[in-house]
Amino acid sequence: MSITVVGSVALDTVETPAGKNTEGLGGAAVYFSLAAQHFAPVHLVGVIGEDFPDQHVRMLGAKNINLAGLERAPGRTFRWTGRYHEDVNERDTLDTQLNVFEHFHPKVPEAARKAPFLFLGNIHPSLQMEVLEQTSHRFVALDTMNLWINITPNDLRDVLKRVDAVVLNDQEARLLTGEVNLRDAAHKIRGMGPHIIAIKKGEHGGMLFCEADDEIFAIPALPLKKVVDPTGAGDTFAGGFMGYLATQEKTDFMTLKRGVVYGSVMASYTCEAFGPDKLIDLTADQIQQRYLEFKKLMEF
Ligand code: AMP
Repeated sequence: MSITVVGSVALDTVETPAGKNTEGLGGAAVYFSLAAQHFAPVHLVGVIGEDFPDQHVRMLGAKNINLAGLERAPGRTFRWTGRYHEDVNERDTLDTQLNVFEHFHPKVPEAARKAPFLFLGNIHPSLQMEVLEQTSHRFVALDTMNLWINITPNDLRDVLKRVDAVVLNDQEARLLTGEVNLRDAAHKIRGMGPHIIAIKKGEHGGMLFCEADDEIFAIPALPLKKVVDPTGAGDTFAGGFMGYLATQEKTDFMTLKRGVVYGSVMASYTCEAFGPDKLIDLTADQIQQRYLEFKKLMEF
């Protein structure tokens, strides 16, 4: 089954203790698509400027990614600059240039409208709503960020009513609900609409909360020898998670747990290089091998 994703396509400048990558390929929709396309066909909906390198478009188009919804608009591509601390769980955003993203209104092409799975990447909730209204879907997941929780809470609540799952980090879950305890936060989010809540905790892995109160799953992050650049790990997680779900007939607790493991597998690869490089040529064997590493790590 195919997946439609809407979100940023970016040129990222990133500094980490391992070095610096200037104007590399990035954006939430790119990380998501490159992870998910290992599992299922992806329709990418987003916008790039006139300066976006053709080589990136060619690379994405050569994958299992349909680019009919990737619009090239007059102006410059969205740019994001970030610097990570020695402890790479912490980062500062140094610069965000919306550029062509500022006047973006997603136009979902015919084939992408019918995809059974939809991922609403971290964009203004009113744009997420525009996409929801253009599509018919079986399963919808959403990501958001502090900015939208703070400045557009009502728009965000309207979208939340219409989604099945949210993928948030722990700080966002706390900010959205005012609850410190993540179990309480998940409970409150469930009251807002979504029945599946995946909470990412960076180096500390993630948690999954499902419909029943005792349907809770926790996963560590793979202890990597070297974290080069964690940018996009969250979007990659979402891509692996949704990608796996799109290969399955049901979304019961066991399937969702496996989805969380595949999401974590893909996120671990993203962290090993700058940008989404590691995701590009990953093989099915490498994905499976790391899935088994997770299995071993979690056995006792
Ligand atoms: P993550 O590390 O999962 O937070 O994702 C980082 C990616 O999100 C980078 O590739 C950025 O280009 C993109 N990004 C950063 N800020 C924004 C924003 N305000 N809106 C959309 N995408 C963003």
